[in-house]
Amino acid sequence: MQKFALLHERLHGLGLFHNNPPHPPSHFADSQVDTMDYIAMAHDAAYIEAFRQDDFTVQARRKLGLPWSPGLMQRTFTAVRGTMLTADLALEFGLAGHLAGGTHHAHHAEARGFCIFNDLAVTARYALSRPDVERVLILDCDVHQGDGTARILSNDPNALTVSVHCRANYPFDKAESDYDIEVEKGCSSKEYLRLLDAYWPLLLDRHQPDLVLYDAGADVHREDALGLLELDDAAIFKRDTHVIEACLDRRIPIACVIGGGYMKNLKRLAEVHGIVHQAAFRLFQQYFE
Ligand SMILES: [Zn+2]
Repeated sequence: MQKFALLHERLHGLGLFHNNPPHPPSHFADSQVDTMDYIAMAHDAAYIEAFRQDDFTVQARRKLGLPWSPGLMQRTFTAVRGTMLTADLALEFGLAGHLAGGTHHAHHAEARGFCIFNDLAVTARYALSRPDVERVLILDCDVHQGDGTARILSNDPNALTVSVHCRANYPFDKAESDYDIEVEKGCSSKEYLRLLDAYWPLLLDRHQPDLVLYDAGADVHREDALGLLELDDAAIFKRDTHVIEACLDRRIPIACVIGGGYMKNLKRLAEVHGIVHQAAFRLFQQYFE
């Protein structure tokens, strides 16, 4: 998918990459351990194998909605690994951002809605396996509900799922997250931010997580082909700033992933996906430099 390369280009153009990136972090998922073993913390072993071998049934292929290719396989594993790395970087430096991630429709043994492995659920389980993490909170602000994440983590008391999504949008068989905040089709920037600001600080204070995973979906944008909401660039910048700031004010590390975005104009889409990185970069300078 071209949007990832365009996002990378966009962030370079904005000068958002550190000259000396703090990379790799001192604690990173043991590189000797196969990424597959981490993915198996949240997915069925036979399902993982079926994907690797391009052995999905016709029905499973239809639910995924993407053609299999070696490139798709490589991108899928790389993106999950990237979310894990982002979580490690956040735990070390306070704040980190991934240029992919947010495949929140993937279920335990089923691909859905362009999502094969659920990087958020995998990373939550991975982070919880670290001795310094007792509770992870996932805030999913993609316009679609994080149904796969909610179902995979439904019995994990230490992995809390919060989904802010459009009620009228996919998926139509909604899951039950720990918190579902539903907005109506056509929701304005003002109303969206009012809801977020009403709930987000309270949720952080109530649950005091050791790590937040934030899905900053770009498909809430008014120009998005699948979104149904009315947020503009400025509102997304405010959303991302408010989400991250509330964590940093409480010294809670936050790892950001980009989530969904379906504008036809990919250059424009890369700009909107890059908003979370701009917000994060500014706050990183403000809080840590
Ligand atoms: Zn989405």
